[in-house]
This record gives sequence, structure tokens and C-alpha cells, in this order.
Amino acid sequence: MGTSSATRPLHAATHAHEADRIESLHSYELLDSEPEDLYDDLALLAATMCGTPMAAVALVDDDRVWFKARFGIPRAQVPRGFTFCEQVVAQQRPLVVADSRLDPRFRTAAEHGVLAYAGVPLVGRDGLPIGTLCVFDSIARELPDKAVEWLRMLADQAVAHIELRRTDHRAGLAEAFEPSRLLRPERVRAALDDGELVPWFQPVVDLRTGRRCGAEALLRWEHPEHGPIPPSAFLPLLEATGLILPTGRHVVRQSLAALRSVLDATTGTAGAPAFGVSINASALEISRAGFARRIIDEVAEHGVPAAAVTIELTESGAPTPIDALRPELQQLRDAGLRIDADDFGNGHSTLQRLLDLPLTGIKLDLSIVSRVPHDVRVARVVEWLVGGAHELDLSVVAEGVETEEQRRFLRDVGCDRAQGYLFGRPGRTLGAGPTG
Ligand code: C2E
Ligand code: MG
Ligand code: MG
Repeated sequence: MGTSSATRPLHAATHAHEADRIESLHSYELLDSEPEDLYDDLALLAATMCGTPMAAVALVDDDRVWFKARFGIPRAQVPRGFTFCEQVVAQQRPLVVADSRLDPRFRTAAEHGVLAYAGVPLVGRDGLPIGTLCVFDSIARELPDKAVEWLRMLADQAVAHIELRRTDHRAGLAEAFEPSRLLRPERVRAALDDGELVPWFQPVVDLRTGRRCGAEALLRWEHPEHGPIPPSAFLPLLEATGLILPTGRHVVRQSLAALRSVLDATTGTAGAPAFGVSINASALEISRAGFARRIIDEVAEHGVPAAAVTIELTESGAPTPIDALRPELQQLRDAGLRIDADDFGNGHSTLQRLLDLPLTGIKLDLSIVSRVPHDVRVARVVEWLVGGAHELDLSVVAEGVETEEQRRFLRDVGCDRAQGYLFGRPGRTLGAGPTG
């Protein structure tokens, strides 16, 4: 346990209610407890998602920062006065540092070779922060744009578990307490077998007509206790274990079956299909031989027009070489399916892919869409991208459209389709589609 504040080293960053905060932390009886799988999993996921060699569930005690879980970190604790975590806890908000050498507050961290950092506070039910979920790196670097969003999501799981643990202790259930098996491969496998992994659908609208012209299938884990869990929480695990392959096949089958019923319910017209479905596939899935064949067979089996099916090429981990993707994508194109580069303008969706892969469209990343029209430079780039894409016969869809202003801007610059909370959130049905 911590020493009294009289002997605590001087450090600039303390929370406004530091004494209460420490008391709150101690009441969880987490300090110096044994490692637990769930927190280890969360640290591992944080590192995997952010692409960093180190991650931790860190508790900021009176005189030390103690790691409930650590990934890639050799020490079980570090003295206070050293870490970024104190800053996150003191301010009670996320912190992202690309190069600690540039900020005098982080001089000690820089001297210890910790140069890049992202962390979010773990806030207990009483509103006081007890620690952080954080990632760090020994090289100075920009962390992914979504790092804070991902860490927040994982931190929510950590806090839920910490609170649950306390309830169990209070109720005398400590003996019977078993760490959640949520993120264990066997549990995810069972979720797939039990039909808990299902595609939800988010509407896509045609910006010229304002009508719904399709939907994107977005994977959800309909967890019996935790409710719907978004894919960012378990995709890295699916990819790391190879479970992404059977899961992807399942999403394809369910999405095509859903499209089949929508097409059955609407009167068909000749020409291009008026309604379609977009299915995400990671580069890892696509690069497996037989990917295209399987999808083509499923499309034929479900009797849906190939042109009504778009594969969205996504990637989260290390970039897959273009040569590994091209043969499978070409086969899909030859069969008449459409292929969009997802998250265009962010991460791996590079110009090279646009030049060297048989794409039919690009999907503008929400990190770009969220900046139009108010960021004039970004707005110009979007206008230029839409024009250039059309010259190359590529369609453009915008994701993450949340405001009327964004919709109008995108329509005016000629963007073809759009998707986002403005038109509807992901929901269970493809046809009618939920809104709001
Ligand atoms: P994505 O394909 O880029 O999907 C867009 C994400 O943005 C979705 O997150 C969606 O729920 C969210 N979104 C939609 N509209 C808005 C908006 O207006 N504002 C904001 N802030 N967000 C919006 P979700 O469902 O959590 O999916 C995350 C990612 O997981 C997807 O990104 C996709 O890359 C991947 N994914 C989803 N389903 C599958 C799947 O079946 N297979 C594979 N391999 N990846 C999948
Ligand atoms: Mg997508
Ligand atoms: Mg995207």
C-alpha cells in the first residue's frame, strides 16, 4: 500500500480530490492482487489495436503507479513523479503524447526512454479516477487517430469488471469469483457456434435521390449479458486466432440471405440493382486463396445479382502486400461484384491500392468526413478526391455523416452515396432499417 502523502515525492500532477481518490482506489482492494486474465487480455488488445509494444492497466497509488496488467513492461510498478498516468488521473481526461522530449512535464519519462504515450482514465462509479488504461512506445511516433476511442472502449470493460469484482467481494463471493472469459478464444468460438456473432446493418443512401440504396453489414457480438459488443473489441482476437475466417463466411451468408429477402419483397426493375449490401473483409481474409470462389458461389446460391454486392477492403494490422490481394479481388470483379477501399484517407488505404487494385469505389474515412465542410483545406481535398475518383470511374461513398451540413456539402461536391448516424445507426434488419 502507499505511504502517507508527507513522504510522497513532489509531483506536479495531483487530482483535485487526491485524498478521496486514494481512499477510493484502496477500497477496491486491487493493489498488489494477483494478475487476472481479463485485464491481461485488455492490455494485450490495447497494444494490438494501437500497434505499440507496451500497454498497461495502471493504478495510480499514493507513491507509486502499480500495474494490474502489463504487456511488454518489465517492472511491476514505478515511483510517482515519473509517469504520464498521473497526468491523466489528475486531469481526468485522455492524454496523447507523440514525443515526450518536447514537453518539459514529461522530462523524466523521456529520460527513461518512454517517448510516445496514449492513456485514458479508469473512472469508478464514484466519479473518481483510480488509474489508466494506456499504451506506450520507446520511439517517438503518432499513435492511430482512433487510439483514444479504442482505449476508452477497453477502459469501459475494465471498469465494469472492477466494479463487478468489488460487488462480488462485498457479497462474500470473492472465493467464487472467476475472471470473465469474455475475450478468450474458446468463448469467442462458442459465440460463433451459438449464433451470437451476427451482422447488423447500417443504411446507405444515394445522395442524388436521398433514397436508401443499400446497407453495410457490421458485425456485432450479441452477448447474452453484456449486450451488443462492437467489432473493435474482438476483431483483433478474431484475426490473431484465425477465427475471422469462419466468422467472415458466416457474415457473408447472413448478409446475402438478408439481401435476398429484401429483393424478394421489392419489385425488381431491369438494369443496375437498386439495392445492395456491402460486406467488410479484412486483407487477411481476402489474401487467403479461395476467398473469391467462396463468395461467388454464395452469391449464386442466394440468387442475388453480383452487382448488388460490394466487398469493402479493410485492414487494421500490418499492411498486406498488394500482390496478395489482387488475384482474389480480380476474380470477384470478373464475376461482377463491386470492391470499395474502406477507410480511404486513413491508415492503409493508400494511393497505391487505388492504382494497383481492381477497385470500383472508395469509401471516405470518417476522420475526413468529420472535418467537412468547416475545415476548408479538407473540404477542398474531398472535392478533389471525388472529382479524381469519378475520372477513374470509381464511385465515392462517405461514412460517418452526422450532420445536415456534411450531407449537403458531400452532395454538392458530387459524392455518390453516404452513410452515418444522420441517416441511421446500425440495427438488426437490412430492409426497413432503424433510424436515430
Ligand atoms: P467500417 O467498415 O469503417 O465501419 C464504419 C464504422 O463507423 C462502424 O463501426 C459504424 O458503426 C461506425 N459509424 C457509422 N456511422 C457513424 C457516424 O455517423 N459516426 C461515427 N462516429 N461512427 C459511425 P463498427 O460497427 O464498430 O465497425 C468497426 C469496424 O469493424 C468497421 O469499420 C470494419 O472495419 C470492421 N468490421 C465490421 N464488421 C466486420 C466484418 O464482418 N468483418 C470484418 N473483417 N471487419 C468488420
Ligand atoms: Mg466498412
Ligand atoms: Mg470505414
